This record gives sequence, structure tokens and C-alpha cells, in this order.
Amino acid sequence: MPLVYDFEHKHRRPPMDMKDLLGGKGANLAEMTSVLRLPVPHGFTITTDACRAYMSGGWPAGLSDQVTRARARLERKMGKRLGDPGDPLLVSVRSGAKFSMPGMMDTVLNLGLNDQSVDALAKQTDDERFAYDSYRRFIAMYGRIVLGIDGAAFDTLLDEAKERSGASSDAGVPVVELRALVEAYKQIVRRETGQEFPQDPDAQLRGAIEAVFRSWNGPRAVAYREHEGISHDLGTAVNVQAMVFGNRDDRSGTGVGFTRDPATGAKGAYGDFLVNAQGEDVVAGIRNTEPLAALEARFPKIYAELLAVFARLERHYRDMCDTEFTIEQGKLWMLQTRVGKRTGRAALRMAVEMTEDRGIRISRPEAVRRVTAEHLEQVLHPQFAGSGHTIVTKGLGASPGAAVGRAYFTADDAAAAAGRGERAILVRSETSPEDVHGMLASQGILTARGGLVSHAAVVARGWGKPAVVGADQIRISGSSFRVGSTTVSEGDWLSIDGTTGEVVQGEVALTEADPPEEFDILLSWADAIRRGNLGVRANADTGPDAANARRMGAEGIGLCRTEHMFIAEDRLPIVRRMILASDPAQEDAALEELRVAQRADFVEILEAMDDLPVTVRLLDPPLHEFLPDTSELAIKDSTEGLSDEERALYDAAKQWHEFNPMLGVRGVRLGVIKPGLYAMQVRALVEAAIDRVRSGGHPILEIMIPLTVTREELALARQWVEEAVVETVTASGEGVRVVSSAASSGRRSTGRANLPVLVGTMIETPRAALRADEIAEVAEFFSFGTNDLTQMTFGFSRDDVEGRMMAAYLEKGLLPHNPFETVDAGGVGELVETAVTRGRATRPALKIGVCGEHGGDPESIDIFYRAGCDYVSCSPFRVPIARLSAAQAVLVRGPRRSATKSARGSATKSARGSATKSARGQRRTAATRPPATAKKARSGSTAKKASRASGAKRAGRASAAKKAKRAGRASAAKKTGRVSASRRAGPGRGAGRTRRTR
Ligand code: PEP
Ligand code: MG
Repeated sequence: MPLVYDFEHKHRRPPMDMKDLLGGKGANLAEMTSVLRLPVPHGFTITTDACRAYMSGGWPAGLSDQVTRARARLERKMGKRLGDPGDPLLVSVRSGAKFSMPGMMDTVLNLGLNDQSVDALAKQTDDERFAYDSYRRFIAMYGRIVLGIDGAAFDTLLDEAKERSGASSDAGVPVVELRALVEAYKQIVRRETGQEFPQDPDAQLRGAIEAVFRSWNGPRAVAYREHEGISHDLGTAVNVQAMVFGNRDDRSGTGVGFTRDPATGAKGAYGDFLVNAQGEDVVAGIRNTEPLAALEARFPKIYAELLAVFARLERHYRDMCDTEFTIEQGKLWMLQTRVGKRTGRAALRMAVEMTEDRGIRISRPEAVRRVTAEHLEQVLHPQFAGSGHTIVTKGLGASPGAAVGRAYFTADDAAAAAGRGERAILVRSETSPEDVHGMLASQGILTARGGLVSHAAVVARGWGKPAVVGADQIRISGSSFRVGSTTVSEGDWLSIDGTTGEVVQGEVALTEADPPEEFDILLSWADAIRRGNLGVRANADTGPDAANARRMGAEGIGLCRTEHMFIAEDRLPIVRRMILASDPAQEDAALEELRVAQRADFVEILEAMDDLPVTVRLLDPPLHEFLPDTSELAIKDSTEGLSDEERALYDAAKQWHEFNPMLGVRGVRLGVIKPGLYAMQVRALVEAAIDRVRSGGHPILEIMIPLTVTREELALARQWVEEAVVETVTASGEGVRVVSSAASSGRRSTGRANLPVLVGTMIETPRAALRADEIAEVAEFFSFGTNDLTQMTFGFSRDDVEGRMMAAYLEKGLLPHNPFETVDAGGVGELVETAVTRGRATRPALKIGVCGEHGGDPESIDIFYRAGCDYVSCSPFRVPIARLSAAQAVLVRGPRRSATKSARGSATKSARGSATKSARGQRRTAATRPPATAKKARSGSTAKKASRASGAKRAGRASAAKKAKRAGRASAAKKTGRVSASRRAGPGRGAGRTRRTR
């Protein structure tokens, strides 16, 4: 099996599409060399197949031969040989996985130098200093990466040499010191490994290749993949490439360039470069770089050539590319390109503008495909509220969004602070991959050095975490920094704005985000794609929430949790009076008070959602949730004693106590025990609707019964609902006509106003899903409560497992992901699909939605669309993401068959009440299930998962920090830790919470 390919190899497919095999870097080097014929130093790629073989069984048979042959070809092309004592070739050995993992794996530069070739290099370049500097760098890099020696040993000697020679930078160390360093470094190798530093280029090459393979499983790389949801099984390719030197002289340099601004999306070349430097110097942020535009003044010809390359790359890739380039003594070399990472703002702008750009002209669906849920999250990030903050310094706004936290100066300290529940801002001179855990744990990152492509900038941008870099006026010393007369010490509050680069001492209030104009444009395209295929509603319980949801593009409310209306301070005592009532009259009086309060709430919601469907769920949680904590009262009872009222509450709480409340008297079971409760809620709702009709509104009601298990209990609940609707309408004397279809939308057609009312149920238990055919006989709509359905399918307590065992399950690979974040396709997803099929077999027009937390998760949305759901419902702040994800699901799966839609539209009108048994068995999921090919295309491709944490916090609901799961299994134990934290932190209702109404 071929394990090695030269860059110019003629593959059957465009190499840029072969990242699985060649890795991202190798694929694009091959594309630039063999297709675009750009100036790329020769080289070859060792495939990911080789890495996978190495990981499972050691050095693969045949690899040595193939490397030897590729090396010989490379030497022929270059006219030089590795280790040649006369005219040596030097190579770099770099990792390159399918997905970019910036700085997470290892690289060895200057390979091929030894005691003889170093002198040859000195002669050939007429630069002894350059040769010995390269050799000492090589020994240190090789020693650290291949031989596993602590890099500090080399650094200390270098620092001493600098001090001895009075050099302020590495470049000032004189050649005699460099020669001495080479000898000292070799001694370190001898001492630490018991062996001489390898002089044989074959041995050097093999060692470096193996080290890159090994670095795939290094702790940094593993942590990064877990965070990013990248499969551990992919392996990395290894690229061996002839070295070119940006540090030869002042006619040399190196840089990183983007074909457009990756932060804003603005057209025009963008980037950083350094004169007389090697590539790592730019990325490491060790020296402050110059903007790419300054290249024009210094190297006008090269600048023009580079712009021409950029234009070609953009036209070829039809997207923004990022590049690494080196100028060696006046000659431009392209070392790398790829479709560049970008901020959310930039992604939106580029996607929209590229539909118009000549030479690129992507289609609108393509534009919609290119924006991810994470991009939208980013533009929905908060900013500093107000103005006039005292800005202590300004750096480069490297990753947008504002963040507030306490300053910590090491990654460990920041991670520890976050572990204690504090918000942290990590402050560093510059970051390196060793800091990743602290960066992850922090709200934001501030560095004193480095440019927009430094490690801190690239990594933070990738995660959508606010970062300010290169704030070069700050002087960090130990655990504080000074800037001007200000000192910020560890634990002090610090606020940063990753868009403007502003740094403020103290805790600045944050505002909601301000998405760019392209946000609405792109989402309108997404809406056009998903319209008629998959709707998006919001879970909202108040008028302001509903209004906000509508602004976000919600097409109705998919879940109004009415218990939230009972928990307000002024309502709770009434609920308690209702529970404690000792006779029906007392209970009725309390219910009456609640009715008045709920009616006002419903009016607000219906007004905000006028002309759109509003699904109101009747009371769901166990009544004891409205009663005080028994343990607190027990303590008070045995210490100070209880008042009469407290005693009554205590007794009631004990009476309602259940061992498994989530499996106890809740949902429709509660209605069975206290039927007056549901009737009261329906009266309040219908009265509110009639109020709205009187004011010229068009309310559309969907009344939803929670936690149904049998047809019979739903039939009973439905009967109460219907009776209450009729009674209320009659009592109003308004002459409103109740109709079952939302299609008539409240308009006056017969002189009387229509009030569309559907009665349906949540499907939250496995039994309900399996008996959906029976249940559909008495339900006009289903809404999957996937939180409970997940809890009950797995038998995982939604209140407990995420905190206790989920991290261990994910870490051990016992679950591919947290099923409370992304719906479990094989179990819960299958139940959803079964219920859709069986429900529609009974009632073809059955309207079906999802209102569990999964309704805002991109990957789950795809699963729901595939299952045939009509809409998803999620928190208001997730609505834009759901709109995008729904459109992407439609693009991948294809639109639904229009026959299905029209059947549903017309059948809805006659769907009420009686069973449509004749239709049973006629409906076929093929109408809603996309073709198998589409299913295949989807797997492991564009399904992007989103980091929801920030949106969720703003929305006040529990949610999940998630990232694109781009391939295979994603074990995300660390991520889960944060998810749980964010769930705990959120004041709203999450997938789990025993005190669910809190
Ligand atoms: C659900 O179970 O998915 C649901 C939406 O209901 P709740 O979270 O309120 O139990
Ligand atoms: Mg539920």
C-alpha cells in the first residue's frame, strides 16, 4: 500500500479533497504544487494510513523503503543530499492532521544537519553564524521533541550565552557562543539519553517521523481533540519538505497571510510578517510582527507576487485562504495554505459577499452551509455596556466578544479558579499549547505579546472565546502586571473586549451582542431553504420572552411551561393555598385567583405571538415542588418550632413527598388527581385568547398535555380541555367559533371570529412513543419532550447523572456524547422516528414538534428532520442557530416531499377528535425520510455542533457547551464538566433539575 506521496504526485482526485489521507497540510501542499503550480519547496507526505498503522502495530512494514525512495527523489529534485558534507539539504518534518490542530503536535526543523554538514552549510551560505544557529536550534528541537529531553536545559544555556555576550536577542549571540552551545547541547543529549546525538540523516529522519506520529497522542493534542470533538482515530500525516530560510538575512522574512481579514471579513490581504525570522517566530508571538501591508514598502515585488497568489488561491478554493510564506533572499515560497478559520462576523460577511464576488460566486445555499452554529454564537456574544470605561490599555482585538473575570497569571491558576466556580481572565506574556487548559477554563485571554495569528489569537478565535493579544504596554511580573500607574494583581477584576482590544480594570457590565447586517441576510436565506420543511419555534414562558423569541425569528411558541407562572413570589402562596385546601370551596377559591393571574400572562404571550401558534403546556411538575424543603422545616421543627402556617406546609410537603418525583405524580397524572387545575388553566388561556380576539388579535392555541402514557388518560384530559374551552367561549358571549385548524388563523369568515385550538400531547415516555398510533387517535399534535424521553429511555436521572457519572462515561468512551446535549440517535432518535411513523399512520396530518433542550442542538435538529418532525422549539437565543441548522439539515437531506406537506395542511382541518384509522398504514416515512444517499452523505460531514454555553447563559436556561463534532467519536469529558457547570449556573430550566420550577 502506498504510504508516501510526493507533493507533485498526480492523484486521481484533486488533492485538496484528500485530507483524510494526506492531512490538511499535505493535501493543500499537493494542491498548490501539482494543480496550482505555485512556488512550493519540494517535499513528500507520509499518509495518515501510516500513522494509524504505527499507532496500532508500530513502524509499518514497507514504510522505511518508501521513505528512502521519496527522500532520494527529493534529493534529486533539489540537487542536494541530506547530511552531505559538501552541499547539504535540510528538511522540515511537520505534522498535518485532517483538521487543523494549531500547535498541538510536533515539528522538527533543520533536519539533516550534523557535525560535517553544518560546516558545509556555513560555506555554502557564507554565513557561519547562520549555520551554527540552525544547528543549535536543530539539536534543541530534536532533543526535546524526539528524544524527550526537558527543553529548559537548552533554554538555560542559551540564556547564559546571551548574558555572557550581552546579546539582547537570539540573533545577537555571536558565532563562538553558538559553536560552544552546539557542543554543550550535544553533551546534554549524551547525559540524558546515554547516546550521542544522531549524525546519520536516516536515523534523524526516522526519529522525527516517529515523534510526529507519537505527538498525535500527546496530552496537548488529546485535550485539544476532546475539546473540538475530533476523533482520536484519525491520525496525522507527516510532511517532509525542503527547508527555505526566512532568517538568512534582511532580504529574507516569513509571514502569515490571509486573503481577507479573518476577524471582520473585509476584502483585501491581511496578515503579519517578520523580517529575518523563521516561521515559528511569527506564530509563537515571541516577536511583535509587522502588518502585511508593510511588506509592500519593504519588498514591493514580493508583495505584488503574494497578492497574485492570494487572488489565485481565493478563486481556486472559492473561499478565504490563510497561508504561510517565507521569503528567502528575495524569493517567495509558499509553505502552506488552507481555507482559513474566521470569526463569526467574518464568516457571515464573507458568505454573503462571496455570493456576489466575481470569480467566486457561491450560491446562497453554499453561503448558508459555510456559516456554522459557532459563528452565530460568536456574533451573539456580549459587548461592554455603555461607554466611558477607563481603558487601562489596548491590545489587538483577536477574538470577538467581551469577557469579565478575575486576573490569573498562569494556566494552572486560571483553571483552578474556574474549578472553584470563579470567572477567570488568563493573563500571559504569550500563550503556548501548554496553556490550553487554562485558556479553556477562562472567560477570556489577554496577552502582552503576539499578533493576530499568535497562538492565543488563533486558538481563542477557534473557540469563540474573547481574546486581546499583543497588549505590549503591560509589564507582567509574577502574579501582577503594571501598565502606566495601574497595577492589576492576581484575583483583581479585569474586563476585556476582544473586538476592540480594550482592557479595563474592574468589572464592566456587558450588553447583548450586536450581530452584523449579514446576520439577517444569511438567516433569511436559511429560512427560505427550510420553509415548508422544518419550522423553528421557541420555548418561552412570558410575554417579554415571547417577544424576544419573535425578534429572533421564532415562528411560534413550541413550549410554554405554565408552572413558571406559578413560581413568582406573589403566586406561590396561592398555589400553596390550593394544595393545602381542606375543602373544595377553598381549592376553587385558590384556583380562581390563579386563573386571574395566568390569564394576564397569557394575554401578553398571545399578543407577542399574534397570528402564530402558541403551545401551552398544562402544569407538569409534581406539586411538592411548590412546597418548602422538608429538611429545612424538619430542622426548624426540632429547634425553634414551627408556626401554624409552617406546620401546615410541612405536613403538606410530607404528604406530597415522593421517592422518585420525576416518575411520580406529575404531568397528566397531576391533572387526574386535581382535574380542576387543568380546567382552570384552560379557562385562563381561552379567556386570554378571547381578550385578544376582542382587541383584533389572532391567537392560535395549541393546548398540550404533558407526560402522557396511555390513550385513555389523554382522552380523559382532552375531555376536560374541550369542556373548559366550550364553557369559556360560551360564557364569554363573544360568538367566537372554535376551529381545529390553525390554517383559518382567527380571521372572521362567517361573521364570527375563529379561534383555532388544537389539543395534543407531549411524547416523553418510551411507552407513549411506542403506542403513538393509539395516542394519535386523541391528539392533534405531538411534541417530543426529549429531556424526559432521554431520561426515561436511558433510565438516567436528568437531575443526577450529568454531575456524577457523565464525565466518566464520556472519558471511557461508554457514550459517544452526553445524550442530554445531543439526542441519542440509536435509542431516543429511534423512538422519535417510531412515534412519528406510528402517529402519522393513524393521523396523517399529525403535527409533530420537539421541545426538549435538543431542539436547539444542530446535530439533534438533523436527526429530528430526518425523523419527519415539522418543527423544533428551543430557547429564544438559540432560535437563530436552530434556523441555520434546520436549513443545513434540509440542504443535506433534501426537501420533504411536497405531497406530505399538503396532506398535512389540508388534513389538519378535519383531524380533530375521531380517529382516522382508515389512514393507518398508508403513511410512509419515505415521504419524510430523505433518500439513503443523503443519509450517507451526512454522516461525519457537515453536522456541526454548537457551543451553546454563552447563549444559554444569556437566555437564562441550561444548555451545553458544544463544538463541531467533525468526525467519528467525540469523547468530551472536560467539555462535559463545563456543560454541567453552565447548567448549574443557569437560573432557568434545564434538562434536569429536581426543583424543576425554580
Ligand atoms: C422535556 O421533557 O423534554 C420537556 C420539554 O419538558 P420539561 O423539560 O419541562 O420536563
Ligand atoms: Mg418533560
